Amino acid sequence: MLKFDVLIIGSGLAGMTLALHLAEHRKVGLVTKRDLLEGSSTYAQGGIAAVLDTGDSVEAHIQDTLVAGAGLCNEDTTRFIVEHSKEAIDWLIELGVPFTKDETHKTGYHLTREGGHSHRRIIHAADATGAAVTSTLGQKIKAHPNITVLEDHIAIDLITSKKLGLDDNRCFGAYALDKQADEVVTLAASHTILASGGAGKVYLYTTNPDTATGDGIAMGWRAGCRVSNMEFIQFHPTCLYHPHTKSFLITEAVRGEGGILRLPDGTRFMPSHDARAELAPRDVVARAIDFEMKRHGLDCVYLDISYKPASFIQEHFPNIHAHCLELGIDITKEPIPVVPAVHFTCGGLVTDLDGHTDVDSLYAVGEVACTGLHGANRLASNSLLECMVIGRAAAAEILNAQPAELPVIPSWDDSRVTDPDEEVVISHNWDELRRAMWDYVGIVRTNKRLERALNRIKLLSEEINEYYSNFHVSNDLIELRNLVQTAELIVRSALLRKESRGLHYSRDYPETLAEPHDTMLSPSA
Ligand SMILES: Cc1cc2nc3c(=O)[nH]c(=O)nc-3n(C[C@H](O)[C@H](O)[C@H](O)COP(=O)(O)OP(=O)(O)OC[C@H]3O[C@@H](n4cnc5c(N)ncnc54)[C@H](O)[C@@H]3O)c2cc1C
Repeated sequence: MLKFDVLIIGSGLAGMTLALHLAEHRKVGLVTKRDLLEGSSTYAQGGIAAVLDTGDSVEAHIQDTLVAGAGLCNEDTTRFIVEHSKEAIDWLIELGVPFTKDETHKTGYHLTREGGHSHRRIIHAADATGAAVTSTLGQKIKAHPNITVLEDHIAIDLITSKKLGLDDNRCFGAYALDKQADEVVTLAASHTILASGGAGKVYLYTTNPDTATGDGIAMGWRAGCRVSNMEFIQFHPTCLYHPHTKSFLITEAVRGEGGILRLPDGTRFMPSHDARAELAPRDVVARAIDFEMKRHGLDCVYLDISYKPASFIQEHFPNIHAHCLELGIDITKEPIPVVPAVHFTCGGLVTDLDGHTDVDSLYAVGEVACTGLHGANRLASNSLLECMVIGRAAAAEILNAQPAELPVIPSWDDSRVTDPDEEVVISHNWDELRRAMWDYVGIVRTNKRLERALNRIKLLSEEINEYYSNFHVSNDLIELRNLVQTAELIVRSALLRKESRGLHYSRDYPETLAEPHDTMLSPSA
C-alpha cells in the first residue's frame, strides 16, 4: 500500500494545478493512466479565455459565458471563475509558459478571439497552447520532491467508508492497476481528487484523446456522487476529415481569424443559418454543418482560410499547417475538409466552488466536474481556465482542512476471478457502444433514438459487469465499464430533458422552456 496526504487521479491541467499548489505542504501522489502529458489538456490548441485587456471587462466575459450557456450557467460560479482569470494566467506566466507575444499590444501578449466571445481575450501559445502549458508544468512536477508521479496506473475504483462498511461516506483513496506490473495497488490518502477529464470516447468520433473514457464520472457515481447536466455534449464543428488522421481538431481560432465554411461547390452557408455566421457558437455551427451534410449527402464540408496571406497562416496556425501538409493539404492554397466530432463533456460530478463532491474528502476538478460554469453549452476556451481557478481553490481548501484518520484498508481481492477467456467481448462491446451513442445520441436527438440507445446500453452493461465480476481487470475492461456507465448517465439525462436547449436538441421537443432547470441524477435515488 502507498500512502499520501493527497491522491490526485489525472495529470491534465486540473491535476497539475492541484499538485503544484499542494506539494509545498503535502505529500502528493499523482496517478495517471498513460504518461504524464497524455490527456486533453496537452491537445488544446486555441488557448485560455481571461480578462487581460483593459478594453475588456469581467462583466463582458461573464455575459458571453451566460449567453453561450443558454440560461443554465450558475452565475456565482461564472463570476468566481472569471474574476480569478487574470491571476490564474499570471501564475502560468510566472512558471514560464511561453505564450505568444505581441509587443504592440498593451498586455505584451497576442490575444485572439473565438466564437461567442465579444472581445479578443484568448491568450495562447501559437496553436499549441495546451502542450506549452502542460510541458512547462510537467517539468516542475517531475522536479518536485513532494510529488510522486505514478504513470501507467489506471484508477479502478475509489475506496470509501461506505464500501468498507463504516459510517458516513468518506473517501480514503483508490485502487489502481499498475499496468506494467499487471497488479492492483492500494493508494491511500486523506484527500482524493478526481481530475480525470471528460468522456468523449463514449462516442465513435471525437477530438478527445484515448484517455477520455469518463472514468472519474463513473468512479464518482459508484462512490455516491450526483451527476448533473450530462446530456450536454459539445460537438466541435471542425475536426479534420481525412482517412489517415485520427481526431485532429481545426481550432475555433481559424474561424476567429476569418475562416469561411463552404460547401464542396464553394458556396458559403453559415450566413443563412445565423447572423453571426462562422462566429456563431459551436452548437449552432455544428448543427448547421450536420444539416448541410445530411441535406446534400456529404462526407464533409470545407473550412477556407486560403485567401489570407500564406505568412499569416503559417505564423498563426503552424501546427495545423504542418499537419495538413503532411496529408497533402496545403491550407494556404486550398480549403480544409472538416466534420463535427464530440469535443467536450459539459456535465459531470456535482461540485461547489472548492471542488467538493457529495462524498467527504473527495474532490472533482476539471472536465470531470460540473461546477455550473458551462451551463447548457461551453463557451470556447473557458475550460482550461476552470481547471486552474477551481484547482487553486480546491488546493487552498485542502490545505486548510484537517486530514482524516485512515481506517484499515483491505488489499484488492481478486481471489475469485480468472484470466479472461474471450477478449473479443471487450472489443466488440467497445465498438457497439460507441456506434450506438453516435447514431442515437448525437447532435439531433429523438425520444425513440434515446430509448433505443438505453435498451442497447442496458444489455451491454449487464454483459460487461458480468465479465468484470469473473475476470482479472485490464486497462480496456476498466475503461469499457466506465464508458458504458457514463453513456447510461448521458442517455438518462437526455431523456429527462423535455425541451431543446444549448447543446441538447430534440426533434420531439424543439421549444425551449421558459424556466431553465438543471438535470440531476443521484445514485441513491
Ligand atoms: C483537441 C482539443 C482541443 C481543446 N482546445 C481547448 C482550448 O483551446 N481551450 C480550452 O479551454 N479548452 C480546450 N479543450 C478542452 C480542454 O482541453 C479540456 O477540457 C481540459 O484540458 C480538461 O482538463 P482536465 O485536467 O480536466 O483533463 P485532461 O487534460 O483530459 O486530463 C485527464 C487526465 O486524467 C487521466 N486519467 C483519466 N482516467 C484515469 C484513471 N482511471 N486513472 C488514472 N488516470 C486517469 C488521463 O490520463 C489524463 O492524465 C480542448 C480539448 C481538446 C480535446
